Amino acid sequence: KKYVYLFSEGNKDMRNLLGGKGANLAEMTGIGLPVPQGFTVTTEACTQYYEDGKMISDDIKGQIVEHVKKLEEITGRTLGDPKNPLLVSVRSGARISMPGMMDTVLNLGLNDEVAKEFAATTGNERFVYDSYRRFIQMFADVVMGFPKSDFEHKFDAIKEEKGVEFDTELTAEDLKEVVAVYKEAYKAHAGVDFPQDPIEQLLAAVEAVFGSWNNDRAITYRRLNDIPGSWGTAVNVQQMVYGNRSDKSGTGVAFTRNPATGENKLFGEYLMNAQGEDVVAGIRTPQPIATLNEVMPECYEQFQKICHILEDHYKDMQDMEFTIEDGKLFMLQTRNGKRTAQAALKIAVDMVDEGMINEQEALLKVEPKQLDQLLHPNFDKEDYKAAKAVATGLAASPGAATGHIYFTAEDVQEAHANGVQDMILVRNETSPEDIEGMNLAKGILTVRGGMTSHAAVVARGMGTCCVAGCGVLRVSEDKKTLTLPDGTVLTEGDYVSLNGSTGEVFAQKIKTVPAAISGDFETFMAWADKERKLLVRTNADTPRDAKQAATFGAEGIGLCRTEHMFFEEERIFNFRRMITAEDVETRKEALEKILPYQRGDFEELFKAMDGYSVNIRFLDPPLHEFLPHTDEEIKPLAESLGMTFEALKERVESLKEFNPMMGHRGCRLAVTYPEIAEMQTRAVIEAAINVTKETGHTVTPEIMIPLVGDVKELKYVKNVVVKTADKLIAESGLDMKYEVGTMIEIPRAAITADKIATEAEFFSFGTNDLTQMTFGFSRDDAAKFLGDYYSKNIYEHDPFATVDQEGVGELMKIASEKGRSTRPDIRLGICGEHGGDPKTVEFCHKIGLTYVSCSPYRVPIARLAAAQAAV
Ligand code: ADP
Ligand code: MG
Ligand code: MG
Repeated sequence: KKYVYLFSEGNKDMRNLLGGKGANLAEMTGIGLPVPQGFTVTTEACTQYYEDGKMISDDIKGQIVEHVKKLEEITGRTLGDPKNPLLVSVRSGARISMPGMMDTVLNLGLNDEVAKEFAATTGNERFVYDSYRRFIQMFADVVMGFPKSDFEHKFDAIKEEKGVEFDTELTAEDLKEVVAVYKEAYKAHAGVDFPQDPIEQLLAAVEAVFGSWNNDRAITYRRLNDIPGSWGTAVNVQQMVYGNRSDKSGTGVAFTRNPATGENKLFGEYLMNAQGEDVVAGIRTPQPIATLNEVMPECYEQFQKICHILEDHYKDMQDMEFTIEDGKLFMLQTRNGKRTAQAALKIAVDMVDEGMINEQEALLKVEPKQLDQLLHPNFDKEDYKAAKAVATGLAASPGAATGHIYFTAEDVQEAHANGVQDMILVRNETSPEDIEGMNLAKGILTVRGGMTSHAAVVARGMGTCCVAGCGVLRVSEDKKTLTLPDGTVLTEGDYVSLNGSTGEVFAQKIKTVPAAISGDFETFMAWADKERKLLVRTNADTPRDAKQAATFGAEGIGLCRTEHMFFEEERIFNFRRMITAEDVETRKEALEKILPYQRGDFEELFKAMDGYSVNIRFLDPPLHEFLPHTDEEIKPLAESLGMTFEALKERVESLKEFNPMMGHRGCRLAVTYPEIAEMQTRAVIEAAINVTKETGHTVTPEIMIPLVGDVKELKYVKNVVVKTADKLIAESGLDMKYEVGTMIEIPRAAITADKIATEAEFFSFGTNDLTQMTFGFSRDDAAKFLGDYYSKNIYEHDPFATVDQEGVGELMKIASEKGRSTRPDIRLGICGEHGGDPKTVEFCHKIGLTYVSCSPYRVPIARLAAAQAAV
């Protein structure tokens, strides 16, 4: 099997095998751009490495060595030859780019002898020893896992001793000293000398890249981004070009368009006399790309041309890395650039206007989940005007955030666990270990780092508001303080607000307001609506939510949870009276009091949805959820209900269940207490009659019976509904229809769906319950152990977030087919949390559901996901 490919042998369509970086390096080679040559060890080699018990097989080793020979022929240089050495970089590259997750080793092939001779032949000692010290440090960190800070401190100590601020000010002699100190430190950690054999260096580096595929950061990133662990990473071995060779050398990163706003203008940064990650690491302050035009106009012009070629070739905005060696430009990487939702929309719409792509192609350029960013708050205009910024940093990722500050990612996680909602993560700079905390934070503020720093890149990817590089602030991560320019000191928990679109930082709370759909967003969503086959409904219990969803484009309500309507004070009182009633008469009396509330709510919902369908689910949760549990709470309630404390306590006790999720709930309640279903039917039908009379639009309510497992249960409850409804409708004199259907959320219902469909006029997949019943674990408790399942690579993502297609999805398929077999025109939908998950939406499209229903803020996401599934 071929495990290694020269860049000249690959192309962009080989991404699965060569990884994104390798495939694009090959593609750029193929279209004649200046790319330092090299070869790619495939993702299959990585998978094989794990299959072989974390060993690189002799076969793969042999192929690597063979390709080193080929690269030596291509470059005319030889690995380990002191007179004319080939130096290489070893770079990881998975199918999908995982920023900052895996590390790169540069200048591999250097050793004492090579350094000495290479310095002599190039006459540039400084550059060679600068490269050598970088190599030792990266090798120690990435390959051996020795603490990076140890080397950094030693480097800083030497800088201080020499009285210089920047690495560029160190002389060749200074750098030789650094190398000596590093080698000593290496030996102290490793117990052996720094390896001098280039092939040994190379194989160790390749193995380290393979190993990094399963480090904690990579696993977390994959889980947050739905990337399967089975893919593996490729390794690229590439001839070095030297951005640290002279003052006419440098390195940089750039985007063909602005990744924050989408503006069609080259955007990026570079550093002269620098190498590798210097630009993003914030060691020196990088220059904006436009100034390269002054320093090296020819390079700049060539670079601009290459940008056009690449955009045209990939038909997408590109994120590129380049290096200039003694005035000569080299391309080191290109990929479709990550961007904010706002930028993604603008770029998609602009590219259609420019004639580069068509509408369907444009639809695929925006991640559905990203739309979320646009639906989230902005600052309240008045409040914002009145506020005064205390500092301004870089506008790294747009949006508005206000909240309490925390100084470490762990503190953010802890605050979240303690129920704090709005956390702002404040750090000098973020690192890949901070991912979880960054994900939970409402906003991120850093003191160091540019527009392409870790914080900025990750925040844009997550759609989290971020202000980066706000250098006038002082952060002490040890003391947990943030010092403002005027000397004010903020501590953990204090309020800060961030404007990610302007870079402003406020030392106060600023009110935020929800967003609206307009401009490019509106244009784009109209294209999506043209393509999609699935309808998108919303889960809403209140007229407010329903209206919000309607402005986001919801086409009806797919789930109205009636129990959520009972939590108001007066309602809960009557509801409790209903629950605690010991005989039918008292219960009916209490229900009679609840009826007008429910009817009123439904009237408002019908009006808010103005002609669209409204699906109302009958009472579902176990009754004891509505009762108080402590004696202190029971006492006053007993009094107001006119019961003795003992009687009420006994009633509360008697309603307790060991396993309430599998207890007396759903349609089982209506079986025991048909009068509840009767009251709810009256509320729905009377509301529909009233609204129909008032507005002249006929309302067709859908009544949904939850937790059915047997057709006979459904039949029993449906009888109660039909008897009550038909009588009311006959009395009203209206020609009104209604539908009675069920949720499919118990595996037995899915398997007997043909029988259930004889009674049910529609199915709605309640995938929250269906998932917990199918897996046999409770969604309220599973979080406790799912973490272990992710870290041990047993599950890759949360089955409560994305439908498990193999198991739960199979039940959905079976139920759909069986349901259609006895009722061909049965309407099928989904109303679990999964209804707004893009992957699940795609699956629902595939199995031919009529609609998906999701929470209001996910309606636009579902609309786009449905369109993407259809194009
Ligand atoms: P990441 O995936 O983390 O961006 P890369 O593999 O792109 O890691 O490497 C990081 C940086 O190292 C590149 O942006 C580039 O500046 C530098 N680099 C990698 N390979 C070479 C090379 N062959 N010559 C010069 N610089 C290189
Ligand atoms: Mg990196
Ligand atoms: Mg890179």
